[in-house]
Amino acid sequence: MPPIFEYLCTGCGEQSTQFRKIDQRDQQSFCHCGRAVVRVFSAPHVMPDIAPYQTVAADKETGKPVNINSRKDHREFIRRNGYEELGSQDYWGHKERDRERRDRLASRTKS
Ligand SMILES: [Zn+2]
Repeated sequence: MPPIFEYLCTGCGEQSTQFRKIDQRDQQSFCHCGRAVVRVFSAPHVMPDIAPYQTVAADKETGKPVNINSRKDHREFIRRNGYEELGSQDYWGHKERDRERRDRLASRTKS
């Protein structure tokens, strides 16, 4: 897994973290507000896992709430039950699409 770097938006000031290869850590990228982000100088670190919790929603297989112990559990629970995570769903989807679009543009202009 590549290390995580921290970035700060020059527009809205939002802080974000991104997985980057070391040699790509200063490649320009943009906030969802459209402004460029700058890398915050801190040591690369591994993202801590989420704290364990019990779901509010029941698992459709057992009809009971589930104990979630990791991000992976969390994602699988959501997917298995066809639940949607309000808020973050759209946020991450949007970010992902932006990144793909940027990558496509970048590869097109280079060749
Ligand atoms: Zn911003």
